[in-house]
Amino acid sequence: MTDGKEIDNVERWDCLPTVLDFACHINPDLRKKERLNGEDFADLNLPFWGGCAICEASIAAYNACFGRHGYLIGTCCADKENALTNMLEIQADRAKAENKENGIDYEDHDYFA
Ligand SMILES: [Zn+2]
Repeated sequence: MTDGKEIDNVERWDCLPTVLDFACHINPDLRKKERLNGEDFADLNLPFWGGCAICEASIAAYNACFGRHGYLIGTCCADKENALTNMLEIQADRAKAENKENGIDYEDHDYFA
């Protein structure tokens, strides 16, 4: 958990951001809520539960990182090599995934440069 950390400041990010960290990054109001539920994450098109792509452990938003291959990796196995390491990387990755879902492929362009 990274509660209270300045997660908007990419420069000072020294551990891997979780799904929960990212959810709070794009919707800071979540930090004020006493309890979060699956709906809060569904609204952001983010997973609440999942499985670690490496060891298959059950994971949830607070201990799930965004893997570089597009699957979730638990904090049990995530490292800087296999997981996205900051909010900008995650944002770019999510934008790419969402564009693909919408049938738009920006791969050939420099939108994420
Ligand atoms: Zn794992």
